[in-house]
Amino acid sequence: MREFDFRYWSKRAAEWAADYRDSVRLRAVRPKVEPGSILKKIDDKPPLRPERMDQVFADFEQFIPNAMTHWQHPRFFAYFQSNAAPPAIIAEQLVTAMASQCMLWQTSPAATELEIKMVDWLRQAVGLPAGFKGVMQDTASSATLCAVLTMRERALAFTGNQEGLFGKRPVRIYASERNHSSVDKALWVAGLGQENLVKIPTRDDYGMDVDLLKAAVGEDRARGLLPGGIIICVGGTSIGACDDVEAITNFARDAGIMTHVDAAWAGSAMICPEFRRHWRGIEQADSIVLNPHKWLGVPMECSLHLLKEPAEMVKTLAIQPEYLKTYGQDGVVNFSEWSVQLGRRFRALKVWFLLRVYGLEGLQSRIRNHVAWAEAAAVTIGQAPGFKIVTQPFLSLFSFRYAPAGYAGDVDELNRRLVEAINDDGRTYLTQTSHDGEIVIRMVIGQFDTTQEDIEIATQAVIEVAQQLA
Ligand code: PLP
Repeated sequence: MREFDFRYWSKRAAEWAADYRDSVRLRAVRPKVEPGSILKKIDDKPPLRPERMDQVFADFEQFIPNAMTHWQHPRFFAYFQSNAAPPAIIAEQLVTAMASQCMLWQTSPAATELEIKMVDWLRQAVGLPAGFKGVMQDTASSATLCAVLTMRERALAFTGNQEGLFGKRPVRIYASERNHSSVDKALWVAGLGQENLVKIPTRDDYGMDVDLLKAAVGEDRARGLLPGGIIICVGGTSIGACDDVEAITNFARDAGIMTHVDAAWAGSAMICPEFRRHWRGIEQADSIVLNPHKWLGVPMECSLHLLKEPAEMVKTLAIQPEYLKTYGQDGVVNFSEWSVQLGRRFRALKVWFLLRVYGLEGLQSRIRNHVAWAEAAAVTIGQAPGFKIVTQPFLSLFSFRYAPAGYAGDVDELNRRLVEAINDDGRTYLTQTSHDGEIVIRMVIGQFDTTQEDIEIATQAVIEVAQQLA
């Protein structure tokens, strides 16, 4: 095989990346592709003989980008954004080149120590007190799983890992009915079972009804069950629901129950002091997750998991076969002991580059713009004929529904068709959710390169497509 020209292809890839980023706004946000169409284009069998890299690269250019949904498109307003700011992409390139495995301090000293520092920078950035320590997990789902495993072990006096769960009293976890599905999955994976996730109804403001929470915990204790943890929601996925962190953590402290706050999306906004009112009482939480890989500009995967007392989670997750022991290095942090996965990427470099190149002020001004533009977009859509704002902006997320006067058909179906038609139009990309039994369309402003003009183009697209549909 000819020697691979790494230098040449690195430069080609960098050129391609710059061109892609420069022109991404000219593309449709969601591609028009049929399921299975890419499968048909890729050979069924792996190549026996080496192929030329220029052919491989040409196939990439031909088949892949046109069949991708463009998450870095400035008019991507669906789900929650997964931003990748350019300086952080550069950090990722360097990390990929070093390709280090960051499971132990000794396998990656600089990565481990930079991770300690970046966790602390982010802790300060979101205004949390100095006692919190943390780790960068791959995703919020993993962080929540680690928290639920810790809740389980704590409730079972750290016997679950060793003895299994058979014959033990059920451990109960409480969360509002508006929590993310990663909470349900964490209970499945932790072996606790869906039935031990107690979904507490919410009040009119969409926050968990704390009186009902207290009653549920009391009833469970009376039945001999083990209340193990409460998952608190700050900025739920559907419409941005928020629990009262202060009231819940006050109760949890008195009741001796561990708390975990899921602020996967909204947590990034806490770099702006004026939004911290949404998680008042946060310093009392035991465990918190927020995703810099959503709103803050750090490319996937980077989930900040902060813990008031990491020892219990480390006791739950640390496992030391002989081949992982690091003699003579006591006192160092081995981050694989803080996570489910053993092998870990170098995640801190992209945070370091991002925070330094933008500064907190640069990131704050983006988030403040997004919040202000969401409010303006809600006004524009709310005033358009046939539209109704269903949930007002929480930070930069709001939802709306289209029901033109005199429309006699199924309005849920109409809104499902509308969101498809908007996405087929290509100017913007939105997704729907179910809210209080009705289909609503969500709009989230949070793409790193979005401008006010992008918001105007997107709201116009929504209104025009709806008129054509009606
Ligand atoms: N929690 C909330 C509120 C979310 O919105 C999401 C994803 O959007 C998650 C958790 C899961 O995040 P991840 O994809 O990092 O696991």
